[in-house]
Amino acid sequence: MNSRNTADQILVRETNLSSVLRLISHEAPVSRAQLAAKIGLNKSTVSSLVEDLLDRNLIHETGMNTMGTGRPATLLEINPKAGCIVGAELGVDFVAVVLTDFVGNILWRKQVEADPAESLEKTLDQTLALANEAMTVCKDRKLNLLGLGLATPGTVDLNEGVLIFAPNLHWHNVPFRKVFSEATGLKVYVENDANAAAIAEHLFGTARQLKDFIFVFAGIGLGGGLFLNGELYRGKNGYAGEIGHSPILAEAFQNPCHCGNRGCWETYANQYSIIHRVSARLEVKRSSLIPAMLAEQNAPLSIQLIKQAADAGDREAIDSFAEAGAAMGQGLAGLANIFNPEKIILGGPLSIAGDYLLPSIRKTVSKHSLPEIDQQVDIGLSAFGPDASLIGAVAIVVDDILKNPIHVERR
Ligand SMILES: [Zn+2]
Repeated sequence: MNSRNTADQILVRETNLSSVLRLISHEAPVSRAQLAAKIGLNKSTVSSLVEDLLDRNLIHETGMNTMGTGRPATLLEINPKAGCIVGAELGVDFVAVVLTDFVGNILWRKQVEADPAESLEKTLDQTLALANEAMTVCKDRKLNLLGLGLATPGTVDLNEGVLIFAPNLHWHNVPFRKVFSEATGLKVYVENDANAAAIAEHLFGTARQLKDFIFVFAGIGLGGGLFLNGELYRGKNGYAGEIGHSPILAEAFQNPCHCGNRGCWETYANQYSIIHRVSARLEVKRSSLIPAMLAEQNAPLSIQLIKQAADAGDREAIDSFAEAGAAMGQGLAGLANIFNPEKIILGGPLSIAGDYLLPSIRKTVSKHSLPEIDQQVDIGLSAFGPDASLIGAVAIVVDDILKNPIHVERR
């Protein structure tokens, strides 16, 4: 046999190994026979691939399937104890780091206030300090560290692990992978926050069985993760999904955006827009609980406070959320018409106000999308709420291991 054939065979086996692992991830608990049937390989090949994955500790046996008339079969699932993962999220006013097991269960987490727009260096130091704490927790528990994922706003060069441009942080060309891999010695993955959150939702959340969905990361901006035909859609350079900067509202007066343009969709639907809507209402002296709450808490107007007011029945708070929801819905109707998704998932900081945003998002999407498209689309909240991108940072590491299990050593 020539070396070309051998190389081909190794490649085929690696591809099959990944297919079996991903199928177990999405269909678990599942038997070897079920895997063979679904994947179209013979049972002995599948058994050999399963043995390989067991050797790498990536899967484990989880009891027997005694349903049906055949012989009871051993069931397989992803092994949560395959190792742990450090996930880091860079926010506009915080950094958060989490340590999870291999299926995204949180073992440890910490968040600190930060000001990335003020100092890149200081923010990177804060993130590294938290990552080091997480790594110590992992070592103390004698767990295997599988990698570090980083979710950031903005456009990311995936191959180089470089943040190209984050308008809301005012950061350009930050070589995240180089900085973090040199400091930690770990394999480092970098991804846009909304894309990372979409991958988390597909691996661990409310989109496990879905092939076509849109993830909306709503906070200071509106980021999109377009999951199409079973894959995250990245576009030519990996920058696809910058939905918040689409110019959708044609008005005489247009809001300025951090990206430098005017009239971007997100300026009508992000958290600043909600704060501005509330402020404008208070300026015309509408009666509201908010001025008293501001005085009592001695804090600036925030989404948390507006949400508290809404919970207490404050009309101005509720109407401000509803208006922002309508502005979100208008853009989402356009996306629904283009992509015909099965689900639109809202996550990120604004998802804490989901109860007030979702009804008007749904109403506006219904109004502006074609009836047959509107009937198909379910609109709901992320399984991880405001932590969607933090769990996303973990998910990008898990996703790469599911695609390349060969990189995890046998025991
Ligand atoms: Zn913009």
